[in-house]
Amino acid sequence: MIINMSANATTQEIQHIVDRIEECGYQAHVIHGTERTVIGAVGSNGRRSEIEALRAAPGVDDVIQITHPFKLVSRQLRQQCTVVEVAGVKIGGGELVVIAGPCSVESPEQLNETAEAVKAAGGNLLRGGAYKPRTSPYDFQGLGVEALRLLRGASEKTGLGVVTEVMSEADVEIVAEYADMLQVGARNMQNFSLLRKLAKETKPILLKRGPSATIKEWLLAAEYLLAGGNPNVVLCERGIKTFETATRNTLDLAAVALAKELSHLPVVADPSHGTGMRSLIAPMSRAAVAAGADGLIVEVHPCPERALSDGPQSLDLAGFADLMRRLGREPSPVSRANRGGLNLVGGLRGDLKELAAD
Ligand code: PEP
Ligand code: MN
Repeated sequence: MIINMSANATTQEIQHIVDRIEECGYQAHVIHGTERTVIGAVGSNGRRSEIEALRAAPGVDDVIQITHPFKLVSRQLRQQCTVVEVAGVKIGGGELVVIAGPCSVESPEQLNETAEAVKAAGGNLLRGGAYKPRTSPYDFQGLGVEALRLLRGASEKTGLGVVTEVMSEADVEIVAEYADMLQVGARNMQNFSLLRKLAKETKPILLKRGPSATIKEWLLAAEYLLAGGNPNVVLCERGIKTFETATRNTLDLAAVALAKELSHLPVVADPSHGTGMRSLIAPMSRAAVAAGADGLIVEVHPCPERALSDGPQSLDLAGFADLMRRLGREPSPVSRANRGGLNLVGGLRGDLKELAAD
């Protein structure tokens, strides 16, 4: 249930509603908007009729039901877009955020070279897998803690915040120690004990959509994180399984637009996993931006043919710089200065008309 307070409700009136919600057996979530305060009454075992009766309480405008099964992530509860800050980078704040780096961290040289190139091209955050969810147990499984240390080192050199996957509840503390944002991989989207543990974290979460998950299931997975106390969640559409075999997955861009409509959380798109094909990364990146994505997460490797995972869907360093130019992004001040150029930092969404024509 949502309790819409009137624009001139007093602090005492708001507090009274919070107290009544708790007395009735629900959790109260107060959202202070620019014009008015909205209070969510969330839970499963409360006395609902007593909440409905709060319509008559002083300072209350209306009491309405949240029609979706997800409550705290719903735009019905919070109309303003949530902005999630990761190492000083705002996701959902109106500027396109680009997260880029290798699928797996393989060596100091591979990671540092990629991180420098990502930074120089105007990327905002560095990705890199330390713990890899591989379909086959015989494939490279990631360097674990060693990779986390390398990511931190690359971050210190470039100033880029680190996004990396946490696969297991047992690794949450160590990953949170080194990373700025914790990724929940597609295969773990419905690992509810992992979600419950991550809900207690203060670090932001990148929640990938499961390969066979509906949008409702994806948003309910995000609900676990918010309900457990972590409001810093970014949704990531990374492609779903369909009958199509020409691409690795089907990047569901309608889901990007719909998730933005249904939820206030930021949404990013992953055209690397979403297609499995390097040649499709640029067109699908532009399409994702046009569909309303707040950011992109792209795999980049200095030599994709030698990558230990996901080489075919990784851009090389020049390919990434080219993608960034097509997105209308200026190179970073350092690389511009090296070329004797202007000290301008990019960050604005590209001109969509120009992108569409490209
Ligand atoms: C990854 O980001 O490298 C990855 C394994 O992603 P996903 O969980 O979407 O497959
Ligand atoms: Mn990958």
